[in-house]
Amino acid sequence: MDGKFLDNDIEKVVAADRAHVWHHLSQHKPYETSDPRVIVEGKGMRVWDQHGKEHLDGVSGGVWTVNVGYGRERIANAVRDQLIKLNYFAGSAGSVPGAMFSERLIEKMPGLTRVYHTNSGSEANEKAFKMVRQIAHKRHGGKKHKILYRERDYHGTTIACLSAGGQPERNAQYGPFTPGFVEVPHCLEYRAQWDLTGEEYGLAAANAIEEVILREGPDTVGALCLEPVTAGGGVIVPPEGYWPRVQEICRKYDILLHIDEVVCGLGRTGTWFGYQHYGIEPDFVTMAKGVASGYAAIACCVTSERVFDMFKDDATDPLNYFRDISTFGGCTAGPAAALENMNIIEEEGLLENTVKMGDYMLDQLHALKDKHEVIGDVRGKGLFLGAELVKDRSTKEPMDEKSVAAVTGDCMAQGVIIGMTNRSLPGFNNTLCYSPALIATKDDIDELITATDKALTKVFG
Ligand code: PLP
Repeated sequence: MDGKFLDNDIEKVVAADRAHVWHHLSQHKPYETSDPRVIVEGKGMRVWDQHGKEHLDGVSGGVWTVNVGYGRERIANAVRDQLIKLNYFAGSAGSVPGAMFSERLIEKMPGLTRVYHTNSGSEANEKAFKMVRQIAHKRHGGKKHKILYRERDYHGTTIACLSAGGQPERNAQYGPFTPGFVEVPHCLEYRAQWDLTGEEYGLAAANAIEEVILREGPDTVGALCLEPVTAGGGVIVPPEGYWPRVQEICRKYDILLHIDEVVCGLGRTGTWFGYQHYGIEPDFVTMAKGVASGYAAIACCVTSERVFDMFKDDATDPLNYFRDISTFGGCTAGPAAALENMNIIEEEGLLENTVKMGDYMLDQLHALKDKHEVIGDVRGKGLFLGAELVKDRSTKEPMDEKSVAAVTGDCMAQGVIIGMTNRSLPGFNNTLCYSPALIATKDDIDELITATDKALTKVFG
């Protein structure tokens, strides 16, 4: 760190933050007696706070975002050059970085052809929901309008996204919700709902989706929206057999498959997108966080040409287009940053690194599990990993949230930032989360593991 922040009067910054900033997803009562944390600077895998304290960031900006690490001058320069040339024009027109980024993205997504630009993961998902609803009206007299989502998944913060949200604690007190969203069971084998394992469990979890479709009536269900690997709901990697059966069910009942890649998108699991591990062919893919690694706000809803065609097949109908706009979807900073982000991922071999380091970290987490009785399960794909804490391995009673927070708090005191599931389900906020930047080295992983080991020993003995 170059100490530049000391040029600002940091006391003033912290006081202004305390007086005026409403922090995301935060209890503010503690700030009455203690300072909020202000992150001042970042470089590579590390960030520095207002006290000049260095932290290894094990969660890529807190929420799986800064995939290529901090302080990337080439992204900053690409954005700067683009902003000087043209900062903005509404998305009803094209832009140079918008077109070039879209083409580059589509090269990585065989079977998909169209990119709708917007700003956040929630918005990208809303776009897909609106497209599904409009298709239902255009093609099915409004009937095939229901959207299925999965217990424990999260798709964003707007009321429609919360209506598609499978995490009760996120939803509590925000109802009434948007009608037409229906939940299907989660697929976390560790918390099995059927007395089966492995591929048989995967098939049962997928068949449970079919049961919901049959109960609701296939002619009322327009789409199924799923995270490829569930993030905040507990880092859930679907079991073998799950995805092929899900695809089969969607085809059987003419249900559009929407994959929410907001977390997995751009490399997090070791492929460009999480769904690409499973050989499935989605109709919609939404993405946000890792698209530009947080250097600019950009999100996309990518569709197949089949979906796109449904919006242009009848030129005599005045409503026959997607009547949607996203003002800042026309900002050029987003695609300029995203293009450079993709260049970095490719040139530095970050997908390969993610696979290698992810496998290494999973092994290390298994070794921690052998040592610490409180770890009930470890799971993950690429650099997207979790360790679920339990009070008792035989009953799998979830560890209480306070104790889990004590572990992340102790890591923080050691200068290592790790996450925990975000109050996904009451009583189930018990999974430690790791999502270091895709540039992570073996030393970085060792540091994350050592800090966790020490914290677990301190909190649980
Ligand atoms: N989808 C998933 C899987 C997410 O984890 C999130 C945010 O954490 C979102 C959607 C919403 O994205 P945003 O916060 O950019 O609106």
